[in-house]
Amino acid sequence: MKREFAVIGLGRFGGSICRELSNEGMEVLAIDIEEEKVSEFKNIASHAVIADTTDEKVLIELGIRNIDHVIVAIGDNIQASILTTLMLKELGINKITVKAQNDYHEKVLNKIGADQVVHPERDMGKRIAHSIISNNILDHLELSDDHSIVEVKAGKKMSGKTLVELDIRAKYGCNVVAIKQEKEINVSPMATELIHENDILIVIGADKDISRFEKHLV
Ligand code: ADP
Repeated sequence: MKREFAVIGLGRFGGSICRELSNEGMEVLAIDIEEEKVSEFKNIASHAVIADTTDEKVLIELGIRNIDHVIVAIGDNIQASILTTLMLKELGINKITVKAQNDYHEKVLNKIGADQVVHPERDMGKRIAHSIISNNILDHLELSDDHSIVEVKAGKKMSGKTLVELDIRAKYGCNVVAIKQEKEINVSPMATELIHENDILIVIGADKDISRFEKHLV
């Protein structure tokens, strides 16, 4: 299935989205105000055009109204990012994803109706910080302001015990949703499942509960 995407702003973030969507065989219209950036994507995206997307006429001429999902990855120029998003919204684009530079920018984008606001530097920073704090936290995915999913490497404290014996749900309020053992992944672990050192547990829960679990068991 081919879906139509447009990526506005071909910096590191927008460029990476554009490459990945194109690699996956999607139709992508790549747009940037700078000629140099656009020529870099001529052979990658389905179409690559030089345009200033803060001009509504330009957006209409580009046929942006026929595109299903637009990704706004304009970096430092917050004003241009907000204005572009607002016009895309007014033109009735079905789905708009925007990269926010800071919390204020994110607030404005949510107010004007961006469907998805992403904050890649902040989120990646958080994920890496968690894995730096504990050698056993391999990854951390924020689900909401106070809930996450973490990937935890089982240490000696958990080794040789079953999920029932560890009693993670009752003691810490977290759920083990999957266990990875070498190349196998078990997505519906039974209560009797035995944990071995270096197994990887995928745990979901409130941040405060995950943090207690990390302190005591990881
Ligand atoms: P990153 O942090 O992802 O590398 P950058 O700030 O380097 O982000 O990239 C943002 C891109 O957005 C730049 O290539 C820039 O030329 C482009 N851009 C900025 N303003 C506009 C605009 N009004 N219309 C289209 N593209 C724009």
